[in-house]
Amino acid sequence: MNRALDGHQARKRFGQNFLTDPNIIRKIVAAIAPRPGEAIVEIGPGLGALTQPLLAGCGHLHVVEIDRDLIARLKDKCPPETITIHAGDALRFDFASLPSDLKVVGNLPYNISTPLLFHLADYAERVREMTFMLQKEVVDRMVAAPDTEAYGRLGVMLQYRFEMAKLFDVPPGAFRPAPKVTSAIVRMIPKKADALTCSDARLLGKVVTAAFGQRRKTLRNTLRDYLDAAGFEALGIDPGARGETLSLADFVAIANYCAATAEPR
Ligand code: SAM
Repeated sequence: MNRALDGHQARKRFGQNFLTDPNIIRKIVAAIAPRPGEAIVEIGPGLGALTQPLLAGCGHLHVVEIDRDLIARLKDKCPPETITIHAGDALRFDFASLPSDLKVVGNLPYNISTPLLFHLADYAERVREMTFMLQKEVVDRMVAAPDTEAYGRLGVMLQYRFEMAKLFDVPPGAFRPAPKVTSAIVRMIPKKADALTCSDARLLGKVVTAAFGQRRKTLRNTLRDYLDAAGFEALGIDPGARGETLSLADFVAIANYCAATAEPR
């Protein structure tokens, strides 16, 4: 029997690495700063390492958990009036069914973290802030600036919708079983509607995907379906540069230019 996990056998397919380091747990809960009456949803509560101290701060939590064994344990650990359990896949969960002004938190299963971030981006206007633990390498990509190796589609698309900050790293030894890689905590705060200046967010996604699709190619090549020589000139963008040199504002300007000047794409 695995004593640290209370006899639970960690399931790899659900990305189960459970937090056991009390100092790290304290630091994460302090970063989330739960207050009485706040609407908070925890994705993947697992064995409750964060759930229980969060409950001490806010009194009630929504949780979304896929593993039925863990759900049964949570029901034993937490009085029913303190926790609303949504059994199922967070990737399919309708976060609009929860109260708005929501805090979303979780030590996210690494195998689904990127699609989950994109799924959550659809609910950004209902969310006050999100605080997640992810692989450090993913957090570095989320907050990356232009002209760095980590800069790419994930960072640009999330930075369009959220203000993001990396808070601190978490070493593998803080978990059971220990993952192979270092993790990090990231805070994401949705931007106000007036900061979302792109007229067609879908087109923005396509332009960004094209620009980073072949990183070694120039924009003249990668954006050839979107910008001709006149377009590069009008936007003041060098067609000989590569995607990683473009700022978020450049990508928005390209998408807006295409939306305003060209046939539907
Ligand atoms: N919060 C716990 C902790 O910090 O110790 C557990 C974190 S563990 C990295 C990820 C948790 O997410 C597990 O409880 C796992 O069962 C759950 N999970 C995995 N895939 C999920 C999914 N698609 N939807 C909801 N929960 C999921």
